Amino acid sequence: MASSSIAEIPVIWFQASTCTGCSVSVLNSASPTIKNLLIDEVIPGKHINLRYHATVMAGQGEAVFAELDRTSDTRKGAYLLVVEGAIPMAENGVYGCAGEKDGQPIPLATTAERLSRNAMAVIALGTCAAFGGIAAGAPNPSGCVGVDRLLHQRGIDVPLINVPGCPPHPDWFVGTVASILLSGLPKSDELDEHKRPKAYYGKLIHENCPRRAYFEEGKFAKKFGDPGCLNELGCKGPVTYADCPLRLWNNGTSWCIASGGSCIGCVEPGFPDLLAPFYQKLTDEALPAIGKGQ
Ligand code: SF4
Ligand code: SF4
Repeated sequence: MASSSIAEIPVIWFQASTCTGCSVSVLNSASPTIKNLLIDEVIPGKHINLRYHATVMAGQGEAVFAELDRTSDTRKGAYLLVVEGAIPMAENGVYGCAGEKDGQPIPLATTAERLSRNAMAVIALGTCAAFGGIAAGAPNPSGCVGVDRLLHQRGIDVPLINVPGCPPHPDWFVGTVASILLSGLPKSDELDEHKRPKAYYGKLIHENCPRRAYFEEGKFAKKFGDPGCLNELGCKGPVTYADCPLRLWNNGTSWCIASGGSCIGCVEPGFPDLLAPFYQKLTDEALPAIGKGQ
């Protein structure tokens, strides 16, 4: 348990345009469990103090919005902001609001901007928060963008770490937070060109895939359930950077390709539009675009 000698790091978890799947994934963290994460010391002497999370907190209404303001105003530069979900920007953000001020709805973009300005760092959790993701899929009438785009448009210079995935693996989030508590914010060479920690997003799925030998031998599955490489069934492993084949999901139980499905590239910028159709073989023309869009 936390004692007075333990440093508490305030965390605000702000949900924008999200299906809440990223929260569900992280709440299912196995080691440490979410209880360990929130109650115990994540690393010796440091403890997370989760000040706000709309899905799991008991409070509601003005009292919890007041807590957002209090943390932002009194802990300037000392709290971590986690953003889950994309930010709707069209029509002054009217397509996504939370709370009211003077009887008027407060756009998610307004709150995300305000909280980002005072944060020590922002973690964009999930592909929607990192790159727009499914919320920004065509035709994107609400003008959803990732946090990076919001910060750029509003001129906010705060360290940003993207932890994409649809949903992200709990280890990717927990490991990123633990690393910040242990050694501070990641150095630029610890992040890739899309601000993802290389520790988790440093290698192609294709490099570590157990079906890689089939690929090299030219043995390709013709339908799901067949043995063989899933390249001809649309696998996006050759253009997707994540450690799923090594880390596995659901507490080490399995992962997409081991369970017979292909990788759909859920951690990449441009997901889902640039990676679609999911079950169509990658073409040489598509390759240069994938991973570049947002
Ligand atoms: S199944 Fe996908 S990731 Fe695995 S070897 Fe084939 S193309 Fe590469
Ligand atoms: S294997 Fe591909 S689609 Fe599946 S979780 Fe990993 S990156 Fe996402």
